[in-house]
Amino acid sequence: MPTAQSIKEEIEKHRGEIYKKDYTFFEVDTLYKSAVCVEHESSQCVECAAMLEDMQALAVEYPQMLNNGSHGRSEYQKRLSKYLEHLRKAHGYTRKGFFQPVYMAIGLLLGLLAGWISQHFTICMGIGLVIGYIAGAIRDRKAEKSGKTL
Ligand SMILES: [Zn+2]
Repeated sequence: MPTAQSIKEEIEKHRGEIYKKDYTFFEVDTLYKSAVCVEHESSQCVECAAMLEDMQALAVEYPQMLNNGSHGRSEYQKRLSKYLEHLRKAHGYTRKGFFQPVYMAIGLLLGLLAGWISQHFTICMGIGLVIGYIAGAIRDRKAEKSGKTL
């Protein structure tokens, strides 16, 4: 069975075949990071074990796909998001910094509601935003500590 290490080696081997900006833009690093998580879960998850094979293949094919116009690119993104989706749904992983913007939006909304009740919009929305900012940072740190972030 492929390992995260062998996937990383393939990614590195083919890295020179694509543009540097494409490597960043298409989050090729995320492919490796998710391979580490998938490998970790694969001992207890059949789907992860199967995905590891698919990831190994993608680690070989990705330069070809990314250099192949919009069709190859969307195919690559589809496969990468399939891995991320499974890690999120089946194993509770989140993207790094996922919670803060969500909590800030909720804080702002609650602030708006409190502002509507109290007629002190600016203060309430400000407080809601700050609370969301702090609570989101705490939640993100907690997720990162648990090792379930990508
Ligand atoms: Zn799994």
